[in-house]
Amino acid sequence: MSRFFSDKYRELEPYVPGEQPRDRILIKLNTNENPWPPHPAVAAAAAEEAGRLHLYSDPECTALREETAARLGVAPEELLMTNGSDEILNFAFMAFCDERHPAVFADITYGFYSVFARVNRVPFRRVPLRPDFSLRPEDYFHSPGPVFIANPNAPTGLALSVGEIRRILETNPENIVVIDEAYADFSGETCVGLIREFDNLLVTRTFSKSRSLAGLRLGFGVGCEAVIRDLKTIQYSTNPYNVDRIAQAAGLACLREDAYNEAHVRDIIRTREKTAEGLKDLGFDMTDSRANFLFVRHAALPGDALCRALRERGILIRRFDSERIGDYSRITVGSPEQMDRLLDAVREIVEEKQ
Ligand code: PMP
Repeated sequence: MSRFFSDKYRELEPYVPGEQPRDRILIKLNTNENPWPPHPAVAAAAAEEAGRLHLYSDPECTALREETAARLGVAPEELLMTNGSDEILNFAFMAFCDERHPAVFADITYGFYSVFARVNRVPFRRVPLRPDFSLRPEDYFHSPGPVFIANPNAPTGLALSVGEIRRILETNPENIVVIDEAYADFSGETCVGLIREFDNLLVTRTFSKSRSLAGLRLGFGVGCEAVIRDLKTIQYSTNPYNVDRIAQAAGLACLREDAYNEAHVRDIIRTREKTAEGLKDLGFDMTDSRANFLFVRHAALPGDALCRALRERGILIRRFDSERIGDYSRITVGSPEQMDRLLDAVREIVEEKQ
């Protein structure tokens, strides 16, 4: 820390992203990326747009926003494109939380929520999940401030039904309820259809997972026009050109090839179920994940030992060094071949242990 760093950030503990290794890792299952590269039309669109990089990008993301909105059945004014969904989440903390309106979220959820709260210097309350990691909707009724729920949740993979979210929205007319749907394409359920009914709903989505574009940084929020206008005020007060030209052009090409993305989503869901069965046969228990990852535990194999042993075999998975979930590992669902190799490696590790 330099002597110039503001006191207001001295206690800040930044978010720790999953490792992006440069060395000998054969299979990367630690950051919930899609194992399939984007459609070739995406690279072609990016290459073409590169010739126009001397010009600023469209701060309104007009073409991409209109196409995304049309596909979701909402108006373009009900949608804001951002630099990954992390950015729209940060905008929501900035726009809707303050001393009198603390952020409310689960004790086990996306680790960035508490970081966003801290960097924006807003208070937050963590609500414990049940012992089986399910979320009790009643705990969020009449909240003291904006509610943030990842659905499906990370790293547990568990999802609430749209009906349960509806009850949270109904009991919070004075609070924004942010539903982070980063993984919703893998659960098949979305709350986007509720935005016309609830002016307190903001749904956030990303191109990083189901659309294979984690490296592009493209996300968006959907909500009523007034909520989107508030978030746009934050965009124009921080970084108006938040989505660059390449991201806008490549994102649009990607949307137009959605059949390709949807086929891969179906493949990942099938592989998730098959891998879950394989791990259960090897003595693991796990949550009923609706996302593109599994959250697993083995009674005889602590999380850190499993991670280390897999790493030695060139396979990266993710573990969280925190109280309630220290024994668990989060394993991204990769291609069928990658998961076969994971299962072979895990079988070897379990057998060595016995
Ligand atoms: N929400 C959740 C629950 C996530 O796991 C992630 C991925 N780390 C994000 C949001 C952010 O994803 P991105 O910024 O790549 O859209």
